[in-house]
Amino acid sequence: MTVRVRLAPSPTGNLHIGTARTAVFNWLFARHHGGKFILRIEDTDLERSRPEYTESILAGLSWLGLNWDEGPFFQSQRLDMYKEAVGKLLEQGLAYRCYTTSEELEALREAQKARGEAPRYDNRHRNLTPEQEAAYQAEGRSFVIRFQIDHEREIVWNDLVRGTMTWRGSDLGGDMVIARASEAGIGQPLYNFAVVVDDIDMQITHVIRGEDHIANTAKQILLYEAFGAKIPEFAHTPLILNMEGRKLSKRDGVTSITDFQNMGFTPEGLVNYMTLLGWSPPDSTEEIFTLETAAKEFSFERVNKAGAKFDWAKLDWLNSQYIHNMPIDKLTDLVIPFWQTAEFTFAGGRERPWLEQLVTLISQSLTRLVDAVAMSQPFFSETVEFSEEASQQLKQEGSAVALQGIFTALENQPQLLEATAQDIIKQVVKEQKLKKGLVMRSLRAALTGDVHGPDLIQSWLLLNQIGLDKPRLSQAITAAS
Ligand code: GLU
Repeated sequence: MTVRVRLAPSPTGNLHIGTARTAVFNWLFARHHGGKFILRIEDTDLERSRPEYTESILAGLSWLGLNWDEGPFFQSQRLDMYKEAVGKLLEQGLAYRCYTTSEELEALREAQKARGEAPRYDNRHRNLTPEQEAAYQAEGRSFVIRFQIDHEREIVWNDLVRGTMTWRGSDLGGDMVIARASEAGIGQPLYNFAVVVDDIDMQITHVIRGEDHIANTAKQILLYEAFGAKIPEFAHTPLILNMEGRKLSKRDGVTSITDFQNMGFTPEGLVNYMTLLGWSPPDSTEEIFTLETAAKEFSFERVNKAGAKFDWAKLDWLNSQYIHNMPIDKLTDLVIPFWQTAEFTFAGGRERPWLEQLVTLISQSLTRLVDAVAMSQPFFSETVEFSEEASQQLKQEGSAVALQGIFTALENQPQLLEATAQDIIKQVVKEQKLKKGLVMRSLRAALTGDVHGPDLIQSWLLLNQIGLDKPRLSQAITAAS
């Protein structure tokens, strides 16, 4: 048997972190078994589906490295197939037209509520005679197609994550709606129905999805039976929770993969983290791995039943590991768009080799790519604004003298080298009888406007290359005296 799995997102929003994690598990399982990963866009909800969300889903999956083997297929292009399938169930008497109006359904729900019962359709139109149907049609009522659910049935499956699951037919809300009517007859299919028709047609062997779909599974199994099709295996993966243990939501500040992208996470770091959200590798000390490595070891035996808490600190740590170990050339490519978004310009000698030197300078301090913006601000602006601490530093006794000494020494240096920079500092320390610490701190304040930052000598060399060190020193000398 060839393993065939699918991701079936609805394009009603950008690629959601929960959907992306489901995609990760599908991908890992397919690759582990040398199977196929299929992408199906469930766009039958015409009001909420948008092409730009489909774009976001495809782009997000590609960005994460979750390539698919077949598709994307679009449910909106498969309506004839669903209609035909509805027709089959009608012919077999397993489905029927229900003419109950929404007012009648509402009254039914109210009565059930008053009796303290769970809401459910009472199957009142299950056995209408042709005359009764004709009468309802003559009244101008529209209909839905309902599929018969036997109250007495027990539905059992062995979930690959959750073990034996047992549901009763009486818990499923009565005969289920599988399609609505349209002007021309049978119209839009409903989620549970279209999913089963597609999963049968696409020969899906394993349905891997979020645990919020458990309640649908029982209904879907009944449909497989009605079609006489083989029932796939099911694996319902745990939800992603915030640190308080509630479902991760918009309130937590992020939902879509685009949000994580804009926050400066690398696809490798994010996908690594998502894999650990609910799964652990057999050697749990090995936390940094590629998708390919994880695929070799992936199985549902090591997927947790309990919800997975989203841990920002862990994600940040993983992300920083990928950034710190990345070739500078690649890191520069990733950082440049963030600088562009911050409207930094590359004029004035800020060419590729210089940019790469800057990235080298800050790379080991980056946790997220976006951190590069704040860290390189002094290298992109023509003038600096002194922070409170930097102003204090410049007012220290000896500061102005030190900076003046450095400025003078620079006069005969067209291009500064590292050794010369070190010598200049030594010389100023000696000649002016100053502490080296004071000279260094004042120089940093003058050049960057701050008292903290990356390696001072390297920062100075970079500013020297674009001719900004001297103007900054004179600006600081004025501020210091
Ligand atoms: N369209 C459904 C969703 O986005 C798919 C669920 C499934 O995998 O069956 O939640």
